[in-house]
Amino acid sequence: RASELRTNSYCFYNEEMNSKAYERISLENALRTALTKGEFVLFYQPKILSETDTISGVEVLIRWRNEERGLVPPGEFIPVVEENGMIIEIGEWVLRTACKQVKTWLDQGFEISLSVNVSSRQFYENCFVSRIEGILLETQFPASLLTIEITESIAMKDINHAISCLEQLKGLNVQISIDDFGTGYSSLSYLNQLPLSELKIDRSFIENLANNGNGAIIDMILALGRTLNLNVVAEGVETIEQKLYLKERNCREMQGFLFSKPIPINELEILLKSFDRKDLKVNSSSLD
Ligand code: C2E
Ligand code: MG
Ligand code: MG
Ligand code: MG
Repeated sequence: RASELRTNSYCFYNEEMNSKAYERISLENALRTALTKGEFVLFYQPKILSETDTISGVEVLIRWRNEERGLVPPGEFIPVVEENGMIIEIGEWVLRTACKQVKTWLDQGFEISLSVNVSSRQFYENCFVSRIEGILLETQFPASLLTIEITESIAMKDINHAISCLEQLKGLNVQISIDDFGTGYSSLSYLNQLPLSELKIDRSFIENLANNGNGAIIDMILALGRTLNLNVVAEGVETIEQKLYLKERNCREMQGFLFSKPIPINELEILLKSFDRKDLKVNSSSLD
């Protein structure tokens, strides 16, 4: 009967909702103690200078190592902590820990920069700039070697706030990069008003380089970078063909599995130390 059906489907839907809500609550609970339990881990992916095949810097990428869940990628928990606000504390931990770690390499004579991803909530928090300033002071990390990565949509969400915040960061000598460039909807005239230092071409354009159109988009971003005097980095370089295409067109820096996956700190240390201090040449074959 119709009423029975309705009841059944209501119950089914309700159970599904309950189990989803339960999953979410247990995920949030586990995340709540993750920081104090020391479950977050930082991986580093080298940035390569195209001209010399040397390491110019690293991007720090967070992972969550949980007893039950294993090594959880950021895509599975960053949106959750972004929504419930825990990203503020976690983001501060990422910045402080990465600055400390990279500073120890700087002190050993490796001249590398550090790129840190920042989410919308972090960026729009009132004391974002003073937090960064405080951490730079505390860790003695040189501001000019720190790059903050934000996406186009973060920058465009409140353009006036973004301009003022980025101007303050620039005043500290911190570098600004637009991550996943080309996938957002930023207005080019606004882009010109932001004190940027770098554009990172989104991985999707590199991945489908062979497909018609993507080569043209890459060429356009490279031309834009030249016009606005910005460093351009290609993300997600996986093949020699992609590398050659980018190198031929003077894309200054590359990142991707061809050179190295994101690796834990001890592996990066081995990688850095296995090369001459003044010539951190990457040898793709030694990096598996
Ligand atoms: P993203 O900043 O665009 O980072 C690049 C992502 O592409 C990383 O994924 C990296 O592992 C992956 N990748 C790099 N090279 C290649 C390649 O050659 N092929 C393929 N298939 N993938 C490649 P990951 O580590 O899972 O991070 C995903 C996203 O999570 C990041 O995208 C970033 O938006 C966010 N994220 C990571 N760490 C943090 C953090 O500490 N704070 C915040 N707010 N967001 C973070
Ligand atoms: Mg990034
Ligand atoms: Mg990206
Ligand atoms: Mg991304």
